[in-house]
This record gives sequence, structure tokens and C-alpha cells, in this order.
Amino acid sequence: MRPAPRLYIDGSLGAGPLALSPEHSRYLGQVLRLKEDGEVRLFNGRDGEWLYVLASVGRRGAEAVPQRQMRQGEPAADAPTLFFAPIKRTQTEILVQKATELGVAVLQPVITARTNRDSLRVDRLQSIAVEAAEQSERLTVPKIREPMSLTEMLEDPPSFVFCDEAGDQEAEPWGGQEGRAPPARPVFQQTDKKPEALLIGPEGGFTPEERAALRSCDAALPVSLGPRILRAETAAIVALTLWQASFGDLSSISS
Ligand code: SAM
Repeated sequence: MRPAPRLYIDGSLGAGPLALSPEHSRYLGQVLRLKEDGEVRLFNGRDGEWLYVLASVGRRGAEAVPQRQMRQGEPAADAPTLFFAPIKRTQTEILVQKATELGVAVLQPVITARTNRDSLRVDRLQSIAVEAAEQSERLTVPKIREPMSLTEMLEDPPSFVFCDEAGDQEAEPWGGQEGRAPPARPVFQQTDKKPEALLIGPEGGFTPEERAALRSCDAALPVSLGPRILRAETAAIVALTLWQASFGDLSSISS
């Protein structure tokens, strides 16, 4: 049997009958064709996950009654922040969706010299994160922050993994081999402090000045993600997977 549909809501859970928003009501009634007595699972990022039963469902609204708590709230997550330079709209949306599936806590857009700023809509990205959290059975939704500049980010950064594909030889393709960052996996195995965040650059990469500022930042842990140049959204997926496998929930069993 398919599990009941799962929706993120803002309000408190478990306290009594709940009036669902017109959007949720239309989705449950018209898209999923649920009727009275249909089941829905609700989560809000605080109270775990609750099973509700629909007392009524119509075009303009629906009422749901709590049955039981199915999952407890997660302990305050130790998940990373992803600093990312916005890319083209579809690729940015893929990055947000995949980073949510991979358990990121916060997504912070960072504006760099070569950033594509076209149509960065934080509200749209936030709804993509909500959908990805609903679909991936997460109990929390990552926060999408308003963009900040790279200069602002570097004023007081948390410890962060700097995904650096480049070398130091400016005349060579991708900066040549000299000055390349070491591969991420052994760096993560050897570090005694879990980095709190990761940074992925824009499609055109960081400028030499930006890269020099990042390489000289004490909070930065420069790593390579291998010998191939990855698109930014692929680099985000690879870096987060390696982080979760070394420090997070891919390194131990959890429910
Ligand atoms: N330098 C390139 C250019 O000029 O087009 C490529 C930038 S790459 C498409 C976008 C971002 O993904 C980079 O800034 C970096 O953060 C990350 N990235 C891609 N491949 C990587 C690799 N092999 N190692 C580390 N980071 C990588």
C-alpha cells in the first residue's frame, strides 16, 4: 500500500483539528482525489510527523484531524550549510532540490564576480526545497537565505570546504597542475574538525583574486573533487555526498 501523502505546513501539529490551506486542499481533493476519511501525513520542521484524517475536503478548504504521531522531531541537525554561487535557473533549482535530498541545513546564495544573477527567486527556491523535503521524507526544510556577496561571506565565515578545481598556473587550462587542492576524501579522513559548510563556485569559476582570497582564508579547507571539471550542480551533489559520508548521516545508520 502506498503511504499517505506528505505535506509541509507552518502551523503546530497534534493540537486539534487543522484547517488546511486552499492550495493543500485543492491538491488533496482534486489532484489526489482524496475524500473524507482520507489520510495525510503532516510535518512542520518542529513536531515530527503526524498522521491526520480528513474530516472534510472541498475546493476552498479542508479540515484534518490528528490521529497519532508517526515520527518524533529530529534532534537539532548537525547538517552543513551550502554556500553556492547561483547558476542558470534550471540548474540552480536542481542544485536546491538535490541538496535538500542530501540533507543540507541552509542554502546560502553567494554573489561572485562571475555569478549568473538572472532570476534568482528565493521564494521559488524555498518552495522547491519544501517539495524536495516532502518527497524525500525529511522532517525539516532547509532555509534558503537571501544572497550575500563573497566579500560579505568572507568577513566572518564558519569553517568551510572550498571546492577548488583550479591550479595556480594562470596561463594553463584550469590553472594547470601546480597548486591543485588535495582530493576531498583523504582530506576529510584526516581532519579532526568537521567543516560546518561547503562552497561551490559559479559556472565560470572564481576569478584569480577571489580564489587567492579563498585560499588564504583560515576557515577554508580547499579540496578537489577529482580530475574532471564538474558542473556546479554536480559539484554540489558530489561534495555534499562526500561530506555526509565522512561526517554526517551517510556514515551511520539512522531511522
Ligand atoms: N573553472 C571553471 C570554468 O572556468 O568554467 C569551472 C567552474 S565549475 C563548472 C563550477 C564550480 O564547481 C567550481 O567553482 C568549483 O567550486 C566546483 N568544481 C567543479 N569541478 C570541481 C573539481 N574537480 N574539484 C573541485 N571543485 C570543483
